[in-house]
Amino acid sequence: MKSKNSLPESILVTSTLAQRIQGLRSLNNFTVLDLAKLTKIPIKQIEDIESGLDTWLSSVLRQKLANALKVEPNLLLEVEFKDYVDIKFVDYKICPNCKIDLQLKTYEGFDFNNDVVQLQKFYCSKCPYVITKD
Ligand SMILES: [Zn+2]
Repeated sequence: MKSKNSLPESILVTSTLAQRIQGLRSLNNFTVLDLAKLTKIPIKQIEDIESGLDTWLSSVLRQKLANALKVEPNLLLEVEFKDYVDIKFVDYKICPNCKIDLQLKTYEGFDFNNDVVQLQKFYCSKCPYVITKD
């Protein structure tokens, strides 16, 4: 398992989970399919993470990805949750880009203390716009 010190700067400077997963995946020369096979995580879910739709991981998912990517789980944890839009300041019903209604998806997951939490995510079906609300 690689420690933080042995990783390239290009990985360490990434600030989103999507960028970091993509960076680590290329570092290991894995395709999305390779990573899906290694972790037994559905390819669609990996695509959602890499496209920024999923901005946090359950502890099981984080562990699987960290193992496959040969890093410490904390390296993924530290970039989770970071790109949230503060929901108080946006009208989350309409996509500001496409002016269409956002779709709502409710997730159950685990927070940093492994307590079950419910997250609601509003996403646009036409562009990558997404808002997460907890
Ligand atoms: Zn949109």
